[in-house]
This record gives sequence, C-alpha cells and structure tokens, in this order.
Amino acid sequence: MSRGVFGGLLSLVLVMALAHYLARERFPQSGTGAANDPVDTASDVRCGANQQVMATVIASYRVSHQGENPARLSDLVPQYVAAIPSCPKGGAYAYDRRAGTVSCPNGHRTMP
Ligand SMILES: [Zn+2]
Repeated sequence: MSRGVFGGLLSLVLVMALAHYLARERFPQSGTGAANDPVDTASDVRCGANQQVMATVIASYRVSHQGENPARLSDLVPQYVAAIPSCPKGGAYAYDRRAGTVSCPNGHRTMP
C-alpha cells in the first residue's frame, strides 16, 4: 500500500516537472505569465550568471597561461575567483577542460 502511495507521488512530481519544463520553453522569460514560478526563474538566472562568470574567469586564466585551460576549477581559487559557485538549486558544476566551460547538473543554461 505504501509503495503505491509513493509511486503515485513520484508520478505526480514527474508530471509537474515536465509541465513546468514545457511551460518555460513556451514562454521563456516573458515575465508576464502567472504560471511562471518566480523562485525557479531566479535560480535559472543566477545559475546562468554563475556559468558566465566562470567562463569569463577561465578565459582570464587562459590569457596568462599560454592559452591553457585550468586542469581543474580549484586552480582558479583564489587568484581568479574567490570561490567556485554552485548551482542555486544545488550541485557542483561539471567542468569541461577542453572547452573551458562549466555546465549545470540541473540543466540550467546561460542566458542568450
Ligand atoms: Zn543550475
């Protein structure tokens, strides 16, 4: 019985997450849709800003390291950035050394 309740809750959460994702794709950053969750939108914006900051910081590192990206993000601390940010929704950014970019574990992207 308890497994059935859990499964039902899980399905509900998944459906809500999907609906939220679809709504956001259809009305990106319009600011007028009452369906937008302001807290979640703020997380997206802050996460995108974090990723842009990291790209800029990594670019600065490259300039003074003969075009080499840092081996790991911690090499940037503290000379280039005081601390490595993490996603506002939780989770550390994945670092792509070849590209010199970070990506969000929750799928947030930088704003265009
Ligand atoms: Zn994120």
